[in-house]
Amino acid sequence: MSLVRAVVAVAVGVVISAPVSAQPANSGVIVLKDVRLIDGTGMPPLVHATIVIQDGRIAAIDTGSNPKTPLHAQVYEYSGKTVIPGLINAHGHLGLVSGTENSATAFTHDNVVRELKQYEGYGVTDMLSLGGNRDLVFDLRREQQAGMLGGADIFTAGRGIGAPGGAPPLPLGPDQIDRPTTVDEARADVRSMAAQKVDIIKIWVDDLHGKVPKMKPEVYRAIIDEAHKQHLRVAAHVYALADAKSLVSDGVDVLAHSVRDQFVDEELIAEMKRNRTWYIPTFTVDDSFFIYARHPEWMDTPFFEAAAGPQLAAMLKSASYVAKVNGDPSTAQHEKDFENGQENLKLLFDAGVHIGFGTDSGAMPSRIPGFAEHRELELMVRAGLTPMQAIVCATGKNAELLQAEDRGTLVVGKRADLLVLDGNPLDGITNVHELVSIVHDGQVIRPMASTATPR
Ligand SMILES: [Zn+2]
Repeated sequence: MSLVRAVVAVAVGVVISAPVSAQPANSGVIVLKDVRLIDGTGMPPLVHATIVIQDGRIAAIDTGSNPKTPLHAQVYEYSGKTVIPGLINAHGHLGLVSGTENSATAFTHDNVVRELKQYEGYGVTDMLSLGGNRDLVFDLRREQQAGMLGGADIFTAGRGIGAPGGAPPLPLGPDQIDRPTTVDEARADVRSMAAQKVDIIKIWVDDLHGKVPKMKPEVYRAIIDEAHKQHLRVAAHVYALADAKSLVSDGVDVLAHSVRDQFVDEELIAEMKRNRTWYIPTFTVDDSFFIYARHPEWMDTPFFEAAAGPQLAAMLKSASYVAKVNGDPSTAQHEKDFENGQENLKLLFDAGVHIGFGTDSGAMPSRIPGFAEHRELELMVRAGLTPMQAIVCATGKNAELLQAEDRGTLVVGKRADLLVLDGNPLDGITNVHELVSIVHDGQVIRPMASTATPR
């Protein structure tokens, strides 16, 4: 209507003062009435809370028996439902997978947008694409911040830095990763990424069980030093305890996978606490190598199938895939790595190390954006965290990790990024699957899949 008015105004040559563009969709007032509120800080839930959302922010939280509802608000009666913050994935990847394959040509506008929408449709409102990005990611981030893209909010490490001939073992174009051969080249790579305003620097420090060259300590020391000079932090792909110790004592800011070759020890724990190093378990990495071959019941649910898509779902259920996994000598290694990782999360969490949340979703076809984050919550609980602790890692703590402190918790003034759930996730973490509605940046988003009872 306003567009028509503007056209008419131009045609007759008059000036009108009324705005010609539509109001942004998130400028309305939304009220969520009578919910159980898990706010992402770790505080016990508020019961019978009414949340007022205005201009994309939490404007008020009222736990009185007669909450005030602003005029013209869109009111949702949500008695008995639970609200948690939107999930934040601090280790994912965009544009590396096409269908059932990894591909160096998958980093396209359409494919990345599709992944961002899938994350969002499963309740993941923010994701950090931790390396392997083409420079297109910066255009997409700009478009998204201008409100033209939608989907999960992009945080990015840009290309990331690996050793020549080394990890990650993925088909990546030369414009998707830097592989410096000298300390000076490594520093130049960091400065180039700083100029692109990456959110963090990503490095890979892993020889993949002796199969490929590993980044040399003098190279990652230079990267960490240069990054800190540029006011950037460094997240490291890591596998082995010895590398984790070396990286942590050299000042790395985030270990972006579990330590899996052995159990963590007092020395690593003390050093991580001293340096305030973050730890992101990413159980999905190991789980995704073997879990589908066991055909758990959830593989036949729409909640899984909608994320996987028909092609990938059929592939992961096929007899040939099962035979391949069962015949692969590395499967037993992945199972052992997974269990070591589970043990290590509990040790580090109990010791008070800062624990984030990530999945490595999008790095390979079997690490499925959106679904993986729900699976990861389940696996953190399996490791011994309570549902509340796992939710806090994936929300409030992860916002701290990303230094995005305008989000992650549902308190007055923060962004209205939240999930409305039918069930109470404190009674069972898979109740997070019961998505009734998603609010992202104040806009109501329809879940892509849900186990909630249809209303
Ligand atoms: Zn990764």
